[in-house]
Amino acid sequence: MELFAEQALLPDGWRRNVRITVSSDGRFDAIVPDSDMPAGAERKAIVVPSQLSLHSHAFQRGMAGLAESRQNPADTFWTWRRLMYQLAHRISPAQMQDIASYLYMEMLTAGYTQVAEFHYLHHASGGVAYGQVAEMSLRVGEAAHAVGIGLTLLPTLYERGGFDGRPLQEAQERFATTPELIGRIVSETRSAWAGRPLLSVGLGLHSLRAVDLEAASDLLVAQTGPVHIHVAEQQKEVEECVASVGARPVEYLLSHADVDERWCLVHATHLSSSEVAGMARSGAVAGLCPITEANLGDGLFPLESYVNDGGRFGIGSDSNVLVSPWEELRTLEYGQRLFTQTRCAALPAETLGSTGGWLYRQALDGGRRACGLEAWGLVAGARADLCVLDEDLLPLPYLQDDAVLDAAIFGSRQPPVKNVLCGGQWRVRDGRHLNHDSVTAAFRRTVRTLLDL
Ligand SMILES: [Zn+2]
Repeated sequence: MELFAEQALLPDGWRRNVRITVSSDGRFDAIVPDSDMPAGAERKAIVVPSQLSLHSHAFQRGMAGLAESRQNPADTFWTWRRLMYQLAHRISPAQMQDIASYLYMEMLTAGYTQVAEFHYLHHASGGVAYGQVAEMSLRVGEAAHAVGIGLTLLPTLYERGGFDGRPLQEAQERFATTPELIGRIVSETRSAWAGRPLLSVGLGLHSLRAVDLEAASDLLVAQTGPVHIHVAEQQKEVEECVASVGARPVEYLLSHADVDERWCLVHATHLSSSEVAGMARSGAVAGLCPITEANLGDGLFPLESYVNDGGRFGIGSDSNVLVSPWEELRTLEYGQRLFTQTRCAALPAETLGSTGGWLYRQALDGGRRACGLEAWGLVAGARADLCVLDEDLLPLPYLQDDAVLDAAIFGSRQPPVKNVLCGGQWRVRDGRHLNHDSVTAAFRRTVRTLLDL
């Protein structure tokens, strides 16, 4: 396949008249700027690398918008979590697959072509293992395969109900795993997906309250690929951690695990200045989920000091209450502007230039690392993933270079995405996924049954 982009965002910046050749194995063969248009090539106006959602809980898409009314005078994150547990309690493997397929189709349509699925819903109701222990993981893989999105599955260890080692509550039984069991799920999924280049496997540790780091140390050594952990999302979690181990969560994690570039610290909302510096120094990626963090009232990540310390970050759609990389980046920047009473707040001090351009590139780099991918973007050898933007959905015509990304993030009424290529195949054309109707019908049926509507 051959494409010709009038302007395209390459690793060294925006270039004109770019010839893009895709090989039959779904990778970019050549990316050549300042070219003539080859005969038979598809001409596109604006081409950018697609984004990566580095943190998702697919099943939570089944409750989007249902937790927005106050149920008691002290409604908090923890009341939201009760509703989420009720959904997790009911969902079957087939329903999981239908919801994940719909969600991943939405992701592709919005401009994501890779998702890291932080997956802890492993067992049947009552905590009974399925005949094939990786059943739920394999269903997530089927969903990604069917709609054609890249997946980094993170089978997630969830051992206990709190820092003090208390057992899991009944509502958490479906999550119960040991390091040995997670090792089995990892190897079962890896062997099942051997011939599927879009699907890969890393490792998740649910949180410091749910995992004993010492017990997980052999698992961390044995497994390759990225390691993700929820950390310091809520103030209450920080207080419990200090009370039980005498250290703040990120402080504890940095001193009790070999946190390096392989790690993604999801949320890390509540940090002291020494934790900010330590996390930036470690090379780990901060997995920021601005829409969900705003929705749940988590707090604001200290982005200004973190980027000034050289920290890396990417974005995740997390609860999937709304799926759009453009809106994630907008929410991230606006939270910082409101907090600091400045503009262009995400840019490091002394850095001049486009906020949107900088945010977009940072999210690409952080997302690539967190998903465990070697290469990403419009570069020869990388998987052939890209977005063709829809000029009609940008707020102004004739935009060029980073002004395109500023306009797309801050001024678009909806994701300004027209066509999406993943693994060398078109998955979205004219803003619509190729399997839109069948995937939507299955999702509607499942939601109706699951929510008893
Ligand atoms: Zn999460």
